[in-house]
Amino acid sequence: MTESYVIIGDGIAGSSAAETLREEAPEADVTVITDEGEALYNRILIKEFAKGKLPEAPISIHDESWYDDRDIELKLNTLVTNIDPNGHTVSTHDGETIEYDKLLIATGGTPTQLPVENADADGIHHFWTFQDARAIRENIETAESATIIGAGLLGIDLAAICGAQEVPGNYLMRGDCWWRYALDEEGAEIMHDAMRERGVTPVFDSGVDHFETDDEGHVVATIDPNGERFESDFVGIAIGLNFNTELLYGLDIEQDNGIVVDKYMQTSNEDIYAAGDLTRFYDVILGEQAQNGSWGSAKEQGTIAAKNMISPESEGFRWVSSYSITHFDFPFLSFGHPTIGDEYVSKKYSETEWRRVALKDGKIVGGVLIGDLAPQSGLKKLMREEVPVGDQTETLLKESFSADDIAAVQEQ
Ligand SMILES: Cc1cc2nc3c(=O)[nH]c(=O)nc-3n(C[C@H](O)[C@H](O)[C@H](O)COP(=O)(O)OP(=O)(O)OC[C@H]3O[C@@H](n4cnc5c(N)ncnc54)[C@H](O)[C@@H]3O)c2cc1C
Repeated sequence: MTESYVIIGDGIAGSSAAETLREEAPEADVTVITDEGEALYNRILIKEFAKGKLPEAPISIHDESWYDDRDIELKLNTLVTNIDPNGHTVSTHDGETIEYDKLLIATGGTPTQLPVENADADGIHHFWTFQDARAIRENIETAESATIIGAGLLGIDLAAICGAQEVPGNYLMRGDCWWRYALDEEGAEIMHDAMRERGVTPVFDSGVDHFETDDEGHVVATIDPNGERFESDFVGIAIGLNFNTELLYGLDIEQDNGIVVDKYMQTSNEDIYAAGDLTRFYDVILGEQAQNGSWGSAKEQGTIAAKNMISPESEGFRWVSSYSITHFDFPFLSFGHPTIGDEYVSKKYSETEWRRVALKDGKIVGGVLIGDLAPQSGLKKLMREEVPVGDQTETLLKESFSADDIAAVQEQ
């Protein structure tokens, strides 16, 4: 009998699962359902579109013929509204019921809204979809002043968009530095200087109390909790993701701020798998459940889920993720889980070079590199291989570090 696989979500996790299913189960029925109006595109590149640096075309990864050529059924503009695990079906907003043998949930997340007055005014943007990027580009191209909220990896994209579009901005942060959980003062200062060079001013110990609007309902200013007023006819907010798990409401599928899966991407229901940003997966390197929001990790999770949907427990997920930022004159990269260490070591090498390594139980669990990314391969290798390095933290900070430096010390 032909197996039928249904995938909810055509982001990189869902799409890479579909590709793997087709390659490894040539006879199977594969259906991909997405509520977006376009097939897989490069979410990482939509910021370059919003900056005005790229046209639309190169951002698309698959057009509809990609699915046709592989005999994968793609349903665009289709919201899955219900899962029936007993009947092995999913239902869509337009009343269709689709049967599955194995189901993959790869529905990602939706940006968190700010619970303040006028947060839904025109000119206030969140950033997740290509449609969001189009709206941001249209608004920022005519804006005169901008405010950015959310001192993390997506917020800095919004700041860079303002810089690229030459709109002066204020970047309101709750603490005393950008991405305060992963950087220290010295590392953050490099990022702050780079923002200032692009015309975006970091504002610390700030945030949003409410927004002011004009008579047409367009935002005109952001008022922070200290009562300070920032002119803003463009506002970009990136304060986190709410995972799209409402489909699981009332179902007996384990969740813990995300869908809990084992190393095979299998949920607590044996015929339902999950992959991508919304999983709380078993990280075999850490030896505990973990979470990761990055393109490479979502892609690999989709591939691994597909393999296990075909052949249960055939391949585990083992991955060291990376996330890079290319907005400035120097490169920036974070890897692994840079904020969950029980020990951190860091060093500044020059005005644009800095490194921090996070360790837990004496092993590397993540890090951040600014300026010189050459040590990343050695640090990631040591993390992947779970090498104990707690007694060699100075070596990890050597300017021209490589994994061989650790081996050399261990051999002595
Ligand atoms: C602007 C931006 C910049 C980024 N930059 C980087 C970067 O530089 N490096 C990096 O590693 N990562 C980056 N990321 C993060 C990366 O893009 C994500 O980690 C990755 O795309 C997650 O993929 P996913 O497939 O898990 O989820 P998503 O890409 O969110 O896909 C989920 C899909 O499911 C659909 N869906 C949800 N619910 C339903 C439903 N009920 N029915 C049907 N469809 C549904 C959604 O509409 C969506 O299309 C960036 C993200 C953004 C937004």
